[in-house]
Amino acid sequence: MEASLLASKFTDIYGHQPSALSTAPGRVNLIGEFTDYNLGYVLPCALNFTTQVMFKPTSDNTITVYSLNYPGEHDRFAAKDDIVEGPSQWGNYVRAVAYVLRRRGYELAGVELLITSDVPQGAGLSSSAALEVSIAGAFNHAFNLGISAQDIALIGQQAENEFMHCQCGIMDQLISAKGEPGSALKIDCRDLSTESVAIPDDLSLVIVNSNYPRKLVESEYNQRRLDCENAADKLGVETLRDATLERLNAVKAALTDNEYKRAHHVITENERVVNTMQALRDNDMSALRKLLTASHVSLRDNFEVTVPATDGLVEIIGGALGERGAVRMTGGGFGGAVICLCREQDIADVKAAVDAQYEAKFGLKADIFVCQAGTGLSVQTLT
Ligand code: ADP
Ligand code: MG
Repeated sequence: MEASLLASKFTDIYGHQPSALSTAPGRVNLIGEFTDYNLGYVLPCALNFTTQVMFKPTSDNTITVYSLNYPGEHDRFAAKDDIVEGPSQWGNYVRAVAYVLRRRGYELAGVELLITSDVPQGAGLSSSAALEVSIAGAFNHAFNLGISAQDIALIGQQAENEFMHCQCGIMDQLISAKGEPGSALKIDCRDLSTESVAIPDDLSLVIVNSNYPRKLVESEYNQRRLDCENAADKLGVETLRDATLERLNAVKAALTDNEYKRAHHVITENERVVNTMQALRDNDMSALRKLLTASHVSLRDNFEVTVPATDGLVEIIGGALGERGAVRMTGGGFGGAVICLCREQDIADVKAAVDAQYEAKFGLKADIFVCQAGTGLSVQTLT
């Protein structure tokens, strides 16, 4: 939203002008799936869908927050009292960030906040990370806390883990906090070091949410993790990050079928992340297509986290674009979204193919989001 329009809405609510604006993006993971807890690589990209927070510190102890996405609701809590869950589901994300800052020893005070966002919620674009990071950016600026972008990400993750009780990794918050303009970010999940890779200007990111109802998958996730840990043990490495295919094949007989397949996915997926960075630098659609296809096949056959609906979307889109696009499932699997990289002029073909085939085959309506690479957290003082 235009900053001036959001500022005028802030003034409507609070009776005076805001002093600054914090903006953080949603994200999509281009490649590097289920590599994070094996301390490998991921390659997410910030989107041009963002969460914006207009704010102004006050001289009292009250944190007040409104969201244009939840009209008629607001949340309010005392900055210096114990921070506990409140009545507002979305307001709790703001409390969560405040809670973690306080636990880390930062002093908070009163502030007025107004949120708006065009990041679709619950669609696999991580609106929650965009919210946590933009709010942490606002607190950081409002109270002069001097927190680095990496720590803002860690604070967002901790807020989600400890207050919202959602066990996410660091990827979503780190790309939202540290994404550079128009670039994907390779994250090394062992030491959180990052390397940015420019997304070619003529590459569109099309995200198609399957809307497949994700069932209880917690035990499936836990089993995958265990398989990975057991495989690493048998390979004699600390995590699969340090394993090679040669070593895996050498000790194959000692592994269960599932341990072998999970490890095979993780080892090859890490290689694909590195190769995808080069394919992006070369703007090489054919290489991107091979890499994303191989990732999807590996997630389907070896990690076994796809469902017919996401396999179907990949087939439908891949079939429509052929050499003109690269497509795979993205995110946690068992439903969720697929990501397609293609040229702008080919987006219409993606939409037409999904419209014509997906609902007919799977009885579900897909949501299609056309995005560009965006930029990470920015906070600006308004003049
Ligand atoms: P996602 O995959 O989009 O991250 P989550 O369920 O993790 O889905 O997070 C969505 C939740 O984040 C929403 O239910 C809401 O509580 C909160 N949220 C996201 N964006 C906003 C916003 N603009 N205003 C208020 N709350 C928001
Ligand atoms: Mg989320």
